[in-house]
Amino acid sequence: GSFKDAGLHPAMLRNVELCGYKTPTPIQRYCIPAIKMGYDLLAVAQTGSGKTASYLIPILNHLMGKTKMLAKMRPSPSAAAAGERTRAEPLVVIVVPARELAIQIFNEARKFCYRTMLRPCVIYGGGPMRDQIDNIMRGCDVLIGSPGRLIDLMERPDVLSLRRVKYMVIDEADEMLHADWEEEFNKILGGGEQEEGNVKYMLFSATFPTAIRKLAKTHLAENYIRVK
Ligand code: AMP
Repeated sequence: GSFKDAGLHPAMLRNVELCGYKTPTPIQRYCIPAIKMGYDLLAVAQTGSGKTASYLIPILNHLMGKTKMLAKMRPSPSAAAAGERTRAEPLVVIVVPARELAIQIFNEARKFCYRTMLRPCVIYGGGPMRDQIDNIMRGCDVLIGSPGRLIDLMERPDVLSLRRVKYMVIDEADEMLHADWEEEFNKILGGGEQEEGNVKYMLFSATFPTAIRKLAKTHLAENYIRVK
C-alpha cells in the first residue's frame, strides 16, 4: 500500500507528499483505513512509529471533505474584519500529557492543514493564558492540548465548547494516569457528547495497564479496533 491508494482527499495527498512521506509506516497501514471506516481505536504505539500521522491523516482527511460545514462555522468576513472573536468549537480534540508533545503534534497538524480550511491550535499549562484564549477564539477546528488547560478553558464562560467535537484523541494516555485521571478524562471526554453525538474516540498508549483497559472500556465503542 501507498498513500496514493488510501483514497485521500487531493489536498491531504499533496500535504503528505510535501511532508516527504513516501510510504505509510506499519501503524499507519492499520489506523488510516480503520479510522476512515469510522471505527474507534485503541493503539499500543511507541513514539517514532509514525503514530501522530496515523490519526491526523484520516481525521483531517475526513474533515477536508466537509467544506460546506466548515464555511458555515466561520465568522462572516465583516465580523472577522472587525476583529470579532467567538467561542472556540473544535471538531477535533487531541489530549496530550506534555507541552513539548502538544507543540510537536501541532506542527505536524499544521503541515497536514496547509492550504485547507482547517485551523489547528495548541494550548498547554504554563503558556500565556490570554494569548491562547485569543488564538482559539479566532477559529479553531483542531485543538491540541494538555488536560489541565483544556478543562480550565472549558470552565470559563464563552471561551471553549466541545459540543461539536467529532473526533477525540488521547495520545500517550499512559502518561496521564496521575491521581485524578478518571475525573479529568470524564470531564473532557464527556464534553464531546452533548449536541452532535456520535463522537469517535482514539486511544494511543505505549503501555497497557489496567487503567488504560478501563478507559477503553468506558469510552470506546464496543466494536473498537485494537492495533497491536
Ligand atoms: P511519531 O511516531 O508520530 O512521533 O513520528 C515519528 C517521526 O516519523 C516524525 O518525525 C514524523 O514526521 C515521521 N513520519 C511519520 N510518518 C512517516 C512516513 N510515513 N514516512 C516517513 N516519515 C514519517
